[in-house]
Amino acid sequence: MRFLRLLPVFAVTLPLPAAGQETPPEKILLNDFRPVSIFKIPITEVSKARYPVIDLHTHPYAQTRAQLATWVELMDLSGIEKTIVLTGAVGAKFDALYQLYSEYPRRFQLWCGFDYTALEESGFGPAAVKELERCYRVGARGVGEISVKGRGLNRKTQPGGIHPDDVRLDPLWEKCAELGMPVNIHIADGIWDYEKMDIHNDGLMDAVSWRLDNQPGIVGHAGMIDILERTLKKHPRTIFVACHFVNLIHDLKLLGQLLDRYPNLYTDISGRFAEMGTIPRFTAQFCEKYAGRIVYGTDLGTDKRMYGITFRLLETLDEHYYERGEFNNHWTMNALALSDSALKHLYRDTALKILK
Ligand SMILES: [Zn+2]
Repeated sequence: MRFLRLLPVFAVTLPLPAAGQETPPEKILLNDFRPVSIFKIPITEVSKARYPVIDLHTHPYAQTRAQLATWVELMDLSGIEKTIVLTGAVGAKFDALYQLYSEYPRRFQLWCGFDYTALEESGFGPAAVKELERCYRVGARGVGEISVKGRGLNRKTQPGGIHPDDVRLDPLWEKCAELGMPVNIHIADGIWDYEKMDIHNDGLMDAVSWRLDNQPGIVGHAGMIDILERTLKKHPRTIFVACHFVNLIHDLKLLGQLLDRYPNLYTDISGRFAEMGTIPRFTAQFCEKYAGRIVYGTDLGTDKRMYGITFRLLETLDEHYYERGEFNNHWTMNALALSDSALKHLYRDTALKILK
């Protein structure tokens, strides 16, 4: 019955903003631009993934039993076999989440955070390792999402904090290896966020919400990749899933070199669907070549349409289409049509290797 899921339709309605319709064309802002594809080409709806999927990048979107039940229903409809929830939490907060999600032990796996208490004070380390061991005993099976964009770990404002290659983190990374806990780490951010917010910024419409160009003193994009490399080198037994294509979707050649050099490095595709759909052939070649090192992830809530958008991008040959909201810059989407073998690796097999 699988063919029924690929339902070609040739009519689609996209929301058109009322504003702008009467604006003289020379006054239309890029921000208001809502083009509708005029091409008479196939539009493919994929509501369920071709193969069973493990989503390795979500957050604790469900906070009640009812919300959790709805999420499980949605997973069933979409073909999501299992979801990894990156709670980033420790202590009582982690325990409460674990308690809630343990209603579906085969459908969810929870990862904890690091206890950052007194992170930048002398003596940091042993207590954090103890808390990691405790979370493991409760049921945590990985760590994440550890996010570091240039200011240092756990820093919301000023730069100068501790980065993952810091010697004070060594015992934590080593404990992850010892316990068999993979780590989801968010290193740097999209390259567009570090560039000047001007007429030449290719990703301006998205980057402006996440901009880092206005934060003096932070470690830049290249510096963050260096930090990741030093961390990978120092902890070869620790499995790192550096999410969002390691924020190197703009330079997949460099990402390939890192994957070649560090067998303990994996990546996920979460939150980078607009970028993938802009360079579909190169991205597809990359996903085929590095199948076995890339996992499926979403990072975009629990919306039915959202799952379908990712399946369409990965499985079909659709071209020049628009997805609004979290999926879009001012680029159009073009799908990747990955091979069955690459899809199976991406959707499930590689995740199973990481999750053991
Ligand atoms: Zn995330």
